[in-house]
Amino acid sequence: MTYNDDNIFAQILNKKLSTKIILENEHAIAFNDIAPQAPIHILIIPKGKYIKYDDFINKASKDEIYYLFILINQLVKNYDLEHTGYRLTTNAGKNANQEVPHLHFHLLAGQNLGKM
Ligand code: 5GP
Repeated sequence: MTYNDDNIFAQILNKKLSTKIILENEHAIAFNDIAPQAPIHILIIPKGKYIKYDDFINKASKDEIYYLFILINQLVKNYDLEHTGYRLTTNAGKNANQEVPHLHFHLLAGQNLGKM
């Protein structure tokens, strides 16, 4: 599968689509999900063109991997989620019903999220 340059998150990254960026570093950005499933529902994506988790881990540099996860941790700190808890998920491919073919992590918090 090849990366689709027109996917909605690619459009956010290349500023074709205007979205408020919550937090950003060298290799990753975070923004609110358009259809939140919890009071806090943030999407964290790498700036590089990676379709899903395995694609990212197989091809990304150590810096790209580090900066993505450090951005997530920065959000956990900023929203004070260490004590209240949160859910971090990523959907990869067909059986997970991944909708947008650019790797993204969902950070959900702000209420009891129930069981998976
Ligand atoms: P997936 O099902 O691929 O794991 O999740 C894709 C997520 O992207 C969904 O939660 C959906 O609400 C969100 N989403 C889809 N289009 C947009 C958009 O244009 N802007 C933002 N901020 N989120 C989007």
